[in-house]
Amino acid sequence: MTTQRTAIVTGAARGIGAEVARRLAADGHAVAVLDLDEAACQKVVDEIVVAGGRALAVGADVSDEVAVEAAVSRVAAELGAPTILVNNAGIIRDNLLFKMTVSDWDAVMGVHLRGAFLMSREVQNYQTKEGWGRIVNLSSTSALGNRGQANYSAAKAGMQGLTKTLALELGRFGVTANAIAPGFIATDMTAATAERIGMSFDDFKAAMAKEIPVQRVGEPADIAHAVSFYASEGAGFVSGQVLYVAGGPKD
Ligand code: NAP
Repeated sequence: MTTQRTAIVTGAARGIGAEVARRLAADGHAVAVLDLDEAACQKVVDEIVVAGGRALAVGADVSDEVAVEAAVSRVAAELGAPTILVNNAGIIRDNLLFKMTVSDWDAVMGVHLRGAFLMSREVQNYQTKEGWGRIVNLSSTSALGNRGQANYSAAKAGMQGLTKTLALELGRFGVTANAIAPGFIATDMTAATAERIGMSFDDFKAAMAKEIPVQRVGEPADIAHAVSFYASEGAGFVSGQVLYVAGGPKD
C-alpha cells in the first residue's frame, strides 16, 4: 500500500510534467499541477480528478521567489504538506555561443536552476518537519554538452550538482534527492527544436530514433516511470543519483 503524500510537479501543464502529475496521482498521491498559467493546468487536474485522484491547479513562475513562497503555502493549505517535489519546469533558448544573448542565458538559468533552488528551499520546510521527502530534478543528456545549448547544458549539469548537494544536506531528515537525465522525449519542447532546424516533427523523430540503441524516441511516460520509482517509499536508500533515461547508455 502506498502512503498518500502531497506532490508538487512544476511545469506540469503539458509534456513530461503533465504525465508525471498523472502518474503520481495514479500512484495514490495528491498532486499540485504547477505551471506559469494556472488555467492551462486545469485540463491535467480534471483528468486526475476524473480518474479518482486529488489535484490542484497552481499558477506560479518558479523563478519568482515571492510567487514560489505563495504557491507552496497554498498547496500546503489546500492539499496537505508537500513532501514530494518534481522540479520539471524548463525552457530552451538555443543558439550558438556567438549569437547567444545575455537574456537567453539568464532566462534558462532562471527557470531551471533558480527555479529548482527556490522550490526546493521552500518545500524542504515541510519535508524536514515530516521527516520524509523526495526531490526529483529534471536534468538532461545535454548536461554532457550539446552544440547550440551553452545555457541549457550548463543549467542541466548544474541540476546534477544541486541534486547531489540536496542529497547530502537533507538525507538526515529522511529526504532523498535524485535527478533524471532524459534523452530525446517527444514533447512540445522537441517539436520546437524540429521547427527551428526546419524539419517536420515526424521526420525529426524518425532520424533521432535511428541513433538511439532501442530504436525509438522516448515518451513522457518513460520519464514518469522513473519519477515514480524515485518518489516511492521503497527508494529511500537511493539518493544523489543521476538516472539517464535515454534508450541507451550515456556517460
Ligand atoms: P515542455 O513541453 O516545453 O513543458 C515545459 C513546461 O514548463 C511548460 O508547461 C512551461 O510553461 C513550463 N514552464 C516554463 N517556464 C516556467 C516557469 N518559469 N515556471 C513554471 N513553469 C514554467 O517541456 P518538456 O519537454 O515536457 O520538458 C520538461 C523538462 O524535461 C524540462 O526541464 C526539460 O528541460 C527536461 N527535458 C526534456 C527533454 C525532451 O526531450 N523533451 C529532454 C531532456 C530534458 P509554458 O507552456 O507556459 O511555457
